[in-house]
Amino acid sequence: MASENPPRRVSVIGLGLMGAALAEALLNAGHKVTVWNRTAKKADPLTRKGARAAGSAAEALSAAEVTIVCVSDHAATMEILGTGAAGDAADERLLVQLSTMSADDSRELARWAEQRGSAYLEGSIFGLPTDITGGSAMIVYSGPRQVFDANEALLRALGDANFLSGEVGAAVSFDKVYYAFVYGTWLAFIQGAAMAHAKGFSIEAYTGTVLARLSGLPGKLKLCGDMIAARNHDDVQCRLDVHAAAFADTLAMCRETGVDDALPAAVMHNFERAIAAGRGDQEISAIFETLIDGNGR
Ligand code: NAP
Repeated sequence: MASENPPRRVSVIGLGLMGAALAEALLNAGHKVTVWNRTAKKADPLTRKGARAAGSAAEALSAAEVTIVCVSDHAATMEILGTGAAGDAADERLLVQLSTMSADDSRELARWAEQRGSAYLEGSIFGLPTDITGGSAMIVYSGPRQVFDANEALLRALGDANFLSGEVGAAVSFDKVYYAFVYGTWLAFIQGAAMAHAKGFSIEAYTGTVLARLSGLPGKLKLCGDMIAARNHDDVQCRLDVHAAAFADTLAMCRETGVDDALPAAVMHNFERAIAAGRGDQEISAIFETLIDGNGR
């Protein structure tokens, strides 16, 4: 019986923190991996694990059926692929772009691949390098569905592989939406740490309290998402104006301690706008309605 995930010839271009993790995960899954990086010595840990180091990007492209690119940005990608030799070597293969870029950039790259008869998939990585090697990352893809399906077993070596859309540009736009959540959350955590520090609380006690409260968060976020999807914010557990009154004390304490107040002030700005729009007796999800109206300026 054929293996569900037979070894494939895969190249990885870009061996920064993320590219090296991608190459390592492919090696761990038993694929035949060729690597190339502008700074050649970054290939050494991977060649010790069984990867082959290519002497040029063109050589990496021609060594594999599938080439994964993961470099800083679109400009770096085009600098690498834009040389004639690399372009010729890409003919009739699959190019998977996992660098962070805009939808326009990804469409330019898709046209570049199409001109060479190559298939193209873009992916957005949701996770850190250790999530890739640990198997807990998620990557969201867009591009031709049949190309994704034909390569899904390979892509699963990098983590959970999700197909989002046939439209090039969708996956790289979806990650911006998710980053609004991720970076907002990181900043909220760090803001609390700064205030805990300023008030003389231990960071360990603060972190422990946040962690202890996290177990209930998925359920609360699901409820919030359901209310937003239904555009109905009337299933109230705590009114928005009660949240705002409580948070006014947080903002005041932040100012009193001298900790930068930009983030809590933005939270209060959103409470106040929703309340001014007559939503004070609704659930906190009602802020969605004033957010999508723009910033009111
Ligand atoms: P990184 O460690 O800074 O590595 C950057 C890579 O890009 C290196 O391989 C670097 O080569 C290469 N590069 C930059 N400019 C180049 C150029 N002009 N020509 C050739 N190669 C060039 O970054 P990273 O963390 O691996 O991130 C790579 C991509 O993954 C980014 O788009 C990032 O947004 C995305 N990503 C990263 C993470 C993460 O947690 N790290 C998570 C999700 C998505 P040299 O080694 O020669 O400098």
